[in-house]
Amino acid sequence: MNDESDLTGTTPRRRPKPDVLEIGGRKLKPSTLMMGHGFDPALSEGSLKPPIFLTSTFVFETAAAGKRFFEGITGKRPGGAEGLVYSRFNGPNQEILEDRLGVWEEAEDALSFSSGMSAIATLLLTFVQPGDVIVHSGPLYAATETLIARILGRFGVHYLDFAAGASREEIDDVLARAKALGRVSLIYLESPANPTNQLVDVEAVAASRDAAFGADERPPIAIDNTFLGPLWQHPLKHGADLAVYSLTKYAGGHSDLVAGAVIGSKALINPIRMMRNTIGTILDPHSAWMLLRSLETLELRMSRAGENAAKVCAFLRDHPKVESVGYLGFLKEGRQADIFKRHCLGAGSTFSLYLKGGEREAFAFLDALKIAKLAVSLGGTETLASAPAAMTHLSVPDERKAALGISDNLVRISIGVEDADDLVADFGQALAAI
Ligand code: PLP
Repeated sequence: MNDESDLTGTTPRRRPKPDVLEIGGRKLKPSTLMMGHGFDPALSEGSLKPPIFLTSTFVFETAAAGKRFFEGITGKRPGGAEGLVYSRFNGPNQEILEDRLGVWEEAEDALSFSSGMSAIATLLLTFVQPGDVIVHSGPLYAATETLIARILGRFGVHYLDFAAGASREEIDDVLARAKALGRVSLIYLESPANPTNQLVDVEAVAASRDAAFGADERPPIAIDNTFLGPLWQHPLKHGADLAVYSLTKYAGGHSDLVAGAVIGSKALINPIRMMRNTIGTILDPHSAWMLLRSLETLELRMSRAGENAAKVCAFLRDHPKVESVGYLGFLKEGRQADIFKRHCLGAGSTFSLYLKGGEREAFAFLDALKIAKLAVSLGGTETLASAPAAMTHLSVPDERKAALGISDNLVRISIGVEDADDLVADFGQALAAI
């Protein structure tokens, strides 16, 4: 939460107590900081938890303070507003959330958004101009592909993509072709890719970008870290400049809200904040408050879901009705395993299950599930299963589906925090029902 210190020298205001970030040289872990970081109860009547600030605007102590805050809002003074102004720009719940989101990946700054897509749209609008080229890994979440290709395409923005698992040489080649096409203003990645689970070599992308562009023309690298972040992958440490989130998934974690975030350096977050201020894509205070609650159990939830997924996948892999299981924890050798070892701290809990057969078998399996729910989305406390070819990726042309491995026998599963043996029993009986 911003420090609303006295700006006129006449009416000193109470400052939030400084956060305790270390004890005796021991740096406190994110799971500890999620309980109190960025919030001083003394500023809210001693309330242990932050109240939800349902207000559209904030009262200035003096006109001079209001002017100074607006200098931050309008960008006349870098670093954002020094105080609370108007709820399209900032608010206490959002600022506490942003402080805590940054902690997991040691990001300098963070912004919250009304959805993952509004985070992505605001990021793209910030950096991309007509005639520019976006280089991206493929596949991307379907709405992100639509936004880049069809919507920004209407404004004269071009794009070139490379396959998620591309080698350094292949990335070099795409960047060289992109440079010939126009100004490359953004490199946009998604890893693991939805729905193939293919990992992008972020280190190779950063090395390729640094070799291809001089310091003054270097496009930022943004990465959608929804599937493994913030626990299992920290791409800012591997050369990405910005990490993007659908907080709707693991961060929210209870399938009861829609939200997004972008985290990264202050220098890159500042212009994105300006764009958010203008177009009004900030998260609402109530969802921000719910996310604060979610973050308190983030490590517990994700750890349990990850352990459950390992057990369920070990069961599924050996089942006679299963063709294969696309689970990051099974990567043993080859380029994908190498990227996994260098970039990932865990295998996640979302994976692909290829059944023997086709749509009939996939549907029979899904219809027979008793614990797992038949729904799209992922990262919630409950286990979800869906058929991408018939649902989320129904509109993808057949050739592209085939190239991406989105076949009729593919079931996408996101494992929750239920009892692992109960889940194994459920998947066992559903496979028997095929
Ligand atoms: N990125 C990824 C990888 C996703 O899976 C999703 C949603 O499924 C999004 C972004 C969009 O997020 P939201 O639905 O919160 O707008």
